[in-house]
Amino acid sequence: MADARTAPTTMAWPTLRDVLEARRRLHEHLLATALHPAPGLSALVGAEVLVKHENHLPTGSFKVRGGVNLLSQLDPATRGRGVLAASTGNHGQSVAFAAQRFGAPATIFVPEDANPVKVAAIRQMGATVVAAGADFDDARVACEAQAAATGQRYIHSGDEPLLIAGVATHTLELLEQDPAVEVIVVPIGGGSGAAGACLAAKAIDRRIAVIGVQSAAAPAAHRSWLQGTLVEAPMETFAEGLATRTAFALPQGMLRAHLDDFVLVSDDAIRAAMVAMLEHARTLCEAAGAAPLAAALQLRDRLRGRRVALICSGGNVSPGQLRTILDAAG
Ligand SMILES: *Cc1c(COP(=O)(O)O)cnc(C)c1O
Repeated sequence: MADARTAPTTMAWPTLRDVLEARRRLHEHLLATALHPAPGLSALVGAEVLVKHENHLPTGSFKVRGGVNLLSQLDPATRGRGVLAASTGNHGQSVAFAAQRFGAPATIFVPEDANPVKVAAIRQMGATVVAAGADFDDARVACEAQAAATGQRYIHSGDEPLLIAGVATHTLELLEQDPAVEVIVVPIGGGSGAAGACLAAKAIDRRIAVIGVQSAAAPAAHRSWLQGTLVEAPMETFAEGLATRTAFALPQGMLRAHLDDFVLVSDDAIRAAMVAMLEHARTLCEAAGAAPLAAALQLRDRLRGRRVALICSGGNVSPGQLRTILDAAG
């Protein structure tokens, strides 16, 4: 087990300059996403709630910002050899989308029971899909073995400064759209999205609070953040965007330095938040994308009256998942 503070982070932390460069690069590939006031959610939470619609990006999640930024910086020889990634689906879609844009063959390792909507989208973008193992971490180990054998560029889902700088553009964008935002609530799996949110928000104004949320049924990043070391934890959440057993050194280091608070929510609270996003904001989120609402509801007392942006990180729910959740909600 590595220590988050002393882990081999020869990797430099990305800076606001990297985020500004990422934004210039993303400009010709991705439109800005909307930041909409959500009166129905404001009434529920008792705060002024806005939703940052990362679910409306091509690929349906914020991760594409990181993939495009990273692929844009690979040299032609590296692109030509092809890129590899392991993913429950959205990081894979991000890499597949960017690889297609920049002419690199992509191979994406997914768990055997991956969300079929995400797998179909990865294939549609021309990437090769390899189903390997029972969960994300099994797929990751298989992917790392192929990278070691072939020398192809392995795109990690967290320990990549260009990914974090790329995804940080969501927070830069939202603070331009509404500079009065006081609190940003962001879901955490491996932590790249939240590390990016911290990077952009804290560079602009240290008083902007960034709150992370993870499923209590997959708390590796939360435990690692509390303990200051990288620890593993059981992974039993249905929210595949948050489903990791391990934490990653680079985002953990940034989160230790900058994240204001980190809460856990139950999978039932995430399910209820998915239904509330549909009912009160007419927004279709996947489970991970609804976790910020679950956190805001849990923190109602602290957020009262404040201006709160929820990062709706993705919308790639499968019809089967949606049916189960709506049936259970009655
Ligand atoms: C990957 C993902 C997350 C978690 O992001 P990390 O950068 O791994 O913390 C949250 N929501 C969705 C929709 C995702 O795809």
